[in-house]
Amino acid sequence: MNNRTVVKMDRVKKTYIMGEVTVEALKETSLEIFAGELLVILGPSGSGKSTLLNIIGGMDSPTSGKVYAGGEELGSAGEARLTRYRRNEVGFVFQFFNLIPDLTARENVELAANLVDNPLSTEEVMEEVGMRDRMDHFPSQLSGGEQQRVSIARAVVKNPRLLICDEPTGSLDYKTGRMILGLLAKINREHGSTVVVVTHNAPIGAMAHRVARMSSGRIVEIGENPAPVPPERIEW
Ligand code: ADP
Repeated sequence: MNNRTVVKMDRVKKTYIMGEVTVEALKETSLEIFAGELLVILGPSGSGKSTLLNIIGGMDSPTSGKVYAGGEELGSAGEARLTRYRRNEVGFVFQFFNLIPDLTARENVELAANLVDNPLSTEEVMEEVGMRDRMDHFPSQLSGGEQQRVSIARAVVKNPRLLICDEPTGSLDYKTGRMILGLLAKINREHGSTVVVVTHNAPIGAMAHRVARMSSGRIVEIGENPAPVPPERIEW
């Protein structure tokens, strides 16, 4: 693990046992995620993408193998350390936004800012995602794309080391989806945040510095992209 590595998975497996049935959601998988990179993880539904994301985000723990973040092994660091990692060092963006419906956009973002010691300014982050004028709207008063902007602001305001996005365009129309990907690329570029995007949508890989392909619980290929394409120019 060198100081360019944000998270490292070392021979991680995740197995779910449900009665008689055992599902190997993640077969032995190793992966290093580097500081400042935009990594796209591609694969069909059921290939283990969310399982991998949940493990690198500290939301789930491996059945075997080790996960290191900031040089520390998360599994042996105890529940309190894992909570601190998830809360302070990771920002999550979900397919269905997961905003709290009876809080305004501003309050949703402030709630996240209050979890960490050195948050960014809510107003500035709202400006950055283009939602400064709608901060006092409730989620139900916002379009899907606007809700996703707020959810990106909620993740970014924590100034996390790692921004993890699970199918961030999965519930948006094509044009809005491209705008959201453009915003994630901008945050990667301007904040230097490490961004991991999971998607089943192969053309989205063109925006990444590296693309990891998953199939049946394994990373089967990792490719470098010498010339990432701005999401606004990607067609799918
Ligand atoms: P993807 O994100 O690529 O669609 P997932 O990581 O969600 O894939 O799932 C990988 C496999 O693990 C699937 O077969 C899925 O049904 C199974 N799986 C995921 N989560 C659970 C769980 N909590 N309990 C049982 N099986 C699960």
